[in-house]
Amino acid sequence: MARARRTSEFIVIGLGRFGGGVATTLVELGNDVLGVDLNAKNVQVHRDVLTHVVEADATDLETMRQLGAGDFGTAVVAIGTDIEASILTTAVLTDLEVPRIVAKAVSEAHGKILERVGASRVVHPERDTGVRVGHSLTGSMIDFIQLDPGFALVETTAPKDLIGRSLAEAEVRRRYGITVVCIKPAGGTFTYATPDTVVSEGDVLVVAGETDRAEAFGTLA
Ligand code: ATP
Repeated sequence: MARARRTSEFIVIGLGRFGGGVATTLVELGNDVLGVDLNAKNVQVHRDVLTHVVEADATDLETMRQLGAGDFGTAVVAIGTDIEASILTTAVLTDLEVPRIVAKAVSEAHGKILERVGASRVVHPERDTGVRVGHSLTGSMIDFIQLDPGFALVETTAPKDLIGRSLAEAEVRRRYGITVVCIKPAGGTFTYATPDTVVSEGDVLVVAGETDRAEAFGTLA
């Protein structure tokens, strides 16, 4: 008889910096996580942190079948350097009919192949971090999150033009084409922004808008 699928459980393959971070966070959020890695040292490091850890080669279909990989609701393939192993592991998880396979890619081409062999979601952590760091180095921008190709969230310090005025008075939406979502005074905590919110020097704003408008707002001094 087939075992019930453990939809709330995760299998994370590759316990390097990225996979280790994903697996540890999932456990901290209250999930059961099986970690799999070829490398005995990485297995040892995660033994006391994850629910279960196994030293195994994830490219081997039989090994993965015996580990019950097909019973997990979500698999994370966090192998980067060995592209062949990353692709083979994703294909094995597809063969085992894991419903959600999240795979890490180190290049655009790698990402396309991962999608072809069944990854439901491909993440590009190094590329995306590079984009965020690049944005954060321009103007007064602190952080940049691309939600969609055309839409972004920007964290930035308040531009001079807004200081001492409410968001309504400053006509932020009309003039800059962005919406201020929340605001934090220096040393304070975030609260939701309203039209009456008055901006002070040193405030941090989180704004949402079309990417070029949000970027432009983040580069105001
Ligand atoms: P990081 O997340 O540290 O940046 P990386 O992108 O350099 O990692 P790798 O070091 O190639 O990626 O792989 C991450 C982990 O995946 C390593 O701990 C490695 O031992 C493990 N790994 C590689 N191939 C396999 C495999 N076939 N089966 C299981 N684990 C594997």
